Amino acid sequence: MDNAAANGRLQSLMSELITDSSVSLYVQNLLHRAPLLIQFRPDIEHCFLTKRAQEFSLIFRIASFLWLALYIAILSGAWLNFSYIFKDSGYMIWQSAFLVSGVIIVALNICAYLPKTHDFIYQNIVAPAATLTLYQLLVGSVAYPDGFLNVYASYNIIITMIVTIFSLRLLWQKSALIMICSSLMAYASLFINDWHVPMLQFLHAFVLIAVVLLNISFFVERRERLGFLNEILVVIKSSELARINAYLATIAREDALSGLANRRAFDDCLEKEWERSRREEQPLALLFIDIDHFKLYNDTYGHAAGDDCLRQVGHTMKKALLRPADTVARYGGEEFVVLLPATDSQGAEEVAERIIRAIDVLAIPHKRSLVAFHVTASIGICSIMPHERHTINNLLENADAALYKAKTAGRRCFKHYQEPQSLTSFTFNNKNSM
Ligand code: GH3
Ligand code: MG
Ligand code: MG
Repeated sequence: MDNAAANGRLQSLMSELITDSSVSLYVQNLLHRAPLLIQFRPDIEHCFLTKRAQEFSLIFRIASFLWLALYIAILSGAWLNFSYIFKDSGYMIWQSAFLVSGVIIVALNICAYLPKTHDFIYQNIVAPAATLTLYQLLVGSVAYPDGFLNVYASYNIIITMIVTIFSLRLLWQKSALIMICSSLMAYASLFINDWHVPMLQFLHAFVLIAVVLLNISFFVERRERLGFLNEILVVIKSSELARINAYLATIAREDALSGLANRRAFDDCLEKEWERSRREEQPLALLFIDIDHFKLYNDTYGHAAGDDCLRQVGHTMKKALLRPADTVARYGGEEFVVLLPATDSQGAEEVAERIIRAIDVLAIPHKRSLVAFHVTASIGICSIMPHERHTINNLLENADAALYKAKTAGRRCFKHYQEPQSLTSFTFNNKNSM
């Protein structure tokens, strides 16, 4: 498994974890209690172990190179000071110890460049290889109880144990198992061969050091576990924050009542579309829409019904727009705006007519309207080619002026700011003429 894939797996495990709402409470509770022996529930433990495996994979290349360097240093030391152990066939155990550990280390150095093997090596190879190496060092040091060589061997055992515990990302229980197994195997060899070794020497050289190292590894792992819990909490809090931010970003640009874009979102959109239209030399059309006699509607049916009416009209207008680039927004009160990129006066007129008809079809009763028996709207249209002489405000003011024209022309109609030659303004039959 390469690093990116391992990272992806850890990320997906982490995101699975944080979707579980009980995790936050569990983690906080564990952090609060901070027991001496920290053991996680299975899903968190799995995630923690995956993280350790990934860390192993990340440090494997450099660590295996350091093991090789360490091996060469120990081998050179032995060659320079005790060269007889390589020549005398009586020192078979040391010879095989150097040979076996040399082969293991070279093989690991090769595997370090094959990321696909890392997981397997971490799960199945590292612990038996460490046990075997330790066993051979132990047996060698007790089989030949000759002074300096023994001291040299003892130091090598200590170094090997430190390297094993701290560079392999093993749990302290696994480290303990490696040490117990290797010492039992060494003890069994002593027993089988009937070597008479002073037990104190054996205990001093190995057990004492093992206990100290295991203690250190236990507390280092405990600190790492607490760190992992904090990491989970940070991920949970960050995802909560990201969710809140996304929600805030949405509501900052959305009108709470109608669910349409609000004035802020519309202003941004207008600015972008204005620039785009200017670059592409395309016309930009704006419709200013105002509900007719809405004050009377509120007075007749109440404010809540008024709100509902605004929601329905907003939804209807959105449905009446066919192009994805068209934008409808609530401009304020009972006024809406529609922005139509790449649309000339004729296109804008078609949309305005469609909106007026759609609101008619909605047929929200409005008995006090002076225009019709249902809610209606008037629309002011402005379509211009944006260039240096025009500003965005011109577009808004012109559409507003056109709306005023539509209102004075009897409402439930649309008017252009400047009537195009080929087009006529459009007026529906109103209540009085019906
Ligand atoms: P006109 O045909 O000339 O547009 O008449 P109008 O009564 O619609 O115009 P006016 O601007 O005088 O009234 C707008 C009313 O819209 C006033 C206000 O009570 C109502 N209004 C504005 N915002 C809201 C809102 O969010 N909810 C409700 N229910 N009413 C609103
Ligand atoms: Mg108004
Ligand atoms: Mg109105």
